[in-house]
Amino acid sequence: MARTLSYISGTQLLSLKRRPNIAIVDVRDDERSYDGHIAGSLHFSSETFLDKIPNLVQQVQGKDTLVFHCALSQVRGPKCARRLAEHLAETTQDAGIKNIMVLERGFNGWESAGRPVCRCTDNPCKAEIV
Ligand SMILES: [Zn+2]
Repeated sequence: MARTLSYISGTQLLSLKRRPNIAIVDVRDDERSYDGHIAGSLHFSSETFLDKIPNLVQQVQGKDTLVFHCALSQVRGPKCARRLAEHLAETTQDAGIKNIMVLERGFNGWESAGRPVCRCTDNPCKAEIV
């Protein structure tokens, strides 16, 4: 289990996304409902993140790489990523998560670079990870 957070750029994420072992975790709060989201991403609001960690671990079964982001990936994204890492360090159960990463520049950077944004209202988003 990696203890330090690593960052991934939008370009790197786009090339990795086709692999089935990646989950993208959006920890923005209300913004997700009006700004859209990265296709295929899960939504775990930072406000309730701690309580929902067991849900998250269950939903990402079979994935070994989690990529966190918020709007800018400066506060909420890294904070939630660290909380998950701490949770995994404390539990004896092996969740199979090997890499916890943070998307550089967050959703805003993703969108402003012209990368695809999904505007469905499903949670989790059922769109294919493009
Ligand atoms: Zn969607």
